[in-house]
Amino acid sequence: MSTEVTRQIRELRETVARLHSELTRYGLVAWTSGNVSARVPGQDLLVIKPSGVSYDDLTADNMVVCDLDGALVEGDFAPSSDTAAHAYVYRAMPEVGGVVHTHSSYATAWAACGEAIPCHLTAQADEFGGEIPIGPFALIGGDDIGKGIVATLAGHRSPAVLMQNHGVFTIGRDARAAVKAAVMCEDVARTAHLARALGQPVPMAQADIDALYDRYQNVYGQQPVAPAGS
Ligand SMILES: [Zn+2]
Repeated sequence: MSTEVTRQIRELRETVARLHSELTRYGLVAWTSGNVSARVPGQDLLVIKPSGVSYDDLTADNMVVCDLDGALVEGDFAPSSDTAAHAYVYRAMPEVGGVVHTHSSYATAWAACGEAIPCHLTAQADEFGGEIPIGPFALIGGDDIGKGIVATLAGHRSPAVLMQNHGVFTIGRDARAAVKAAVMCEDVARTAHLARALGQPVPMAQADIDALYDRYQNVYGQQPVAPAGS
């Protein structure tokens, strides 16, 4: 392994360990469930949480490195039991640099009902570009979960899928973007549940959803400032 790849892996171990604390901060996980991974850019490798280690004990050093078949390459612990699903997504979707999995309560309640979250909120249009889709039921082990995630999200605007009877998988250009999608997915799922409890949510026009999505993805946020006189 070149010095540059070793340095990249070191940085990603730190990033992935740190991002796991966002899952607990936002109340998305219980006990040791949930996991974050990152692709090592340009390599057929990923960095992921070890299996069964408490969130309080996660450090850069106990993160594990696997190849894109999910086999352990570097690390003192067994990789997360969800590694096969993460690895499948990286194999099938080269644009994805980060994957997150949680059983966050509200989003997983929609998954338990096998129901996609319809888009009745501007914040959902911004981040997800429409409904948050439901993926198939799949048992852990083998490629079935990964296949279900990819079949649902490929060509879909949403970076989140609710896997039926299971929980949430999110993707992003990097691990931080996938964590943000997991946080926003739970937020939207909670509000959608409350709206449904309160009455009948008001549908949004597809043109408005499209306009919000386009603005948020392409215009919103800090843009580079043009130099004076340009
Ligand atoms: Zn799970």
